[in-house]
Amino acid sequence: MSAFRRWRRSRLARRPFPPSWEPLLLRVPIYPWLPPQDQVELRQHIKIFLAEKKFEAAAGFEVDEGVQVVVAANACLLLLHRETDYFPFLRTVVVYPTLYVARYTRPGPAGVVEEGMEVRAGESWPLGTVVLAWDAVLGAGFGPGARNVVVHEFAHQLDLEDGAMQGSPVLPPELLKPWQEIFFAEYERLRASPWPTPLALGLANPAEFFALSVELFFSDPQSLKQHHPALYQLLSRYFHQDSLALLRRA
Ligand SMILES: [Zn+2]
Repeated sequence: MSAFRRWRRSRLARRPFPPSWEPLLLRVPIYPWLPPQDQVELRQHIKIFLAEKKFEAAAGFEVDEGVQVVVAANACLLLLHRETDYFPFLRTVVVYPTLYVARYTRPGPAGVVEEGMEVRAGESWPLGTVVLAWDAVLGAGFGPGARNVVVHEFAHQLDLEDGAMQGSPVLPPELLKPWQEIFFAEYERLRASPWPTPLALGLANPAEFFALSVELFFSDPQSLKQHHPALYQLLSRYFHQDSLALLRRA
C-alpha cells in the first residue's frame, strides 16, 4: 500500500463520524452486540470504505446515504481486527431495490454449458463489482437461521484479495497449514458426505464454500459451530472474533 494512501486513510479515520449515520448502524444486525471498541473501529472503516468505493443504482432504485452506510457497515465487519486493504479489487457497488433476475451460464454435466435466467439477492465479480438487492440487505439477521447477503458477497471480495476467488483470502503464515488441513479438508469431506450440513449450498466450489462459511460465521454462528466446530475455530482465528460469544450476549 502506498504511503499516500495510508496517510489519506488515517486522515479519513480521524474525521468525525456524521451524526446522521449513527442511527443507520442499528439496521446492521450484529452492530448492537459488538463491544464498544469494535464499534469505534467499524465506524472508522465505514468512513474510509465510503470515501473509496462508488455506488450505483439499478432498476430505478435510489441509493441514498442510508443504503450506503448500511452496506458499508455490513461489509466492513469483515475488516475488523486485521491489517486490511479495503477489498482492493472492488470499485463499485450496484444496488437493486429488490431481488433481480440475471442471466447465467455455467458448466453443466458432460461439459455442456448451461444457460438460463435466475433470481438473485447478490453477486460478486472479480473485475470490481458487487451487486446487491436492497430488500435482501435489509433481510439480514444475526441468530438461528439468519443470513447476510452483504457479508456473503464481500467474503467473495476478501477471497479475491490474493488475486483469485478460490477459497482462501490472504492468510497470515500461521494459518496457511491449518487452512489446508481444516478448510479445504472439510470442503472435500462434505462433498463426499451424504449428511445434511448448513453449508450444503456452498459445496459447488471452494469460493462458494468460503463465502457461505463466512456468511454463517457472522449471521448464524451457532449452527456453524455446532456442525463444523473446527471450521468455526479457524474462522475465529482468522477474524480475531468470537461471533457466537457476541450472540450469547445478545
Ligand atoms: Zn457466493
